[in-house]
Amino acid sequence: MKLIFLGPPGAGKGTLAAKAVDILKLPHISTGAIFRSAIAAQSTLGLKVKAVIDAGKLVDDAATIELVKERLAQADAQAGYILDGFPRTIPQAEALSAFSSVDKVVNFDIPDSSVLERLGGRRVCRKCGANYHIVFNKPKNEKVCPACGGEIYTRDDDREEAVQKRLEVYRAQTAPLIDYYRKKGLLVDVDARPLVDEVVGNFKKALGL
Ligand code: ADP
Ligand code: ADP
Ligand code: ZN
Repeated sequence: MKLIFLGPPGAGKGTLAAKAVDILKLPHISTGAIFRSAIAAQSTLGLKVKAVIDAGKLVDDAATIELVKERLAQADAQAGYILDGFPRTIPQAEALSAFSSVDKVVNFDIPDSSVLERLGGRRVCRKCGANYHIVFNKPKNEKVCPACGGEIYTRDDDREEAVQKRLEVYRAQTAPLIDYYRKKGLLVDVDARPLVDEVVGNFKKALGL
């Protein structure tokens, strides 16, 4: 099954993807996570995208499309995948349709107030990328990842100015994909407001699992 997770920043896409990996046995492909690894490794790509990402803007379509095209060509993605955070623009969606089919687009439905609450408390493991939250999913030791022992940090783009910019960018460039995929008959809406276990239930129901 080829799935796209669509929704505003902080909707819970990454958190649900981690659960869906166990349910569906498919790889989780997050463009944001790929960019963060590139930044950590100080690769050419990482050096190029760091300032743009920290400012809450989008990486250019050409570079992002190329990255996803290469990733989806790998062996583990042939039976399906969970694509989290791509496409984020209509040109990205058009490009994707030229190199992969899509079975369903899961739209994470959530108000801005919840998004702000979730992004404001988000913490991430530098080593394995696991997501935590200072209220909703608090690790015992606030600095150490319980899954891998890595350092827990606050993303630079979760600072307030960057969050406002990301929400603007979402509304202008990404939200039009909701109608785009609805018209193609691929969209399924998931109520992303409740606690994680209930969102997992909503997701399974929406996909008929
Ligand atoms: P979030 O989980 O908060 O929605 P992501 O981890 O998906 O954020 O992405 C972090 C940042 O990486 C984005 O704000 C953007 O700068 C960049 N990025 C991720 N995916 C894309 C994409 N498909 N197109 C352009 N930029 C992207
Ligand atoms: P996205 O990938 O859409 O940007 P994340 O999965 O990183 O979103 O979630 C954003 C923040 O909200 C994280 O701190 C995560 O722990 C928390 N979170 C995710 N889902 C829920 C939920 N259903 N209820 C409360 N907090 C959540
Ligand atoms: Zn970790």
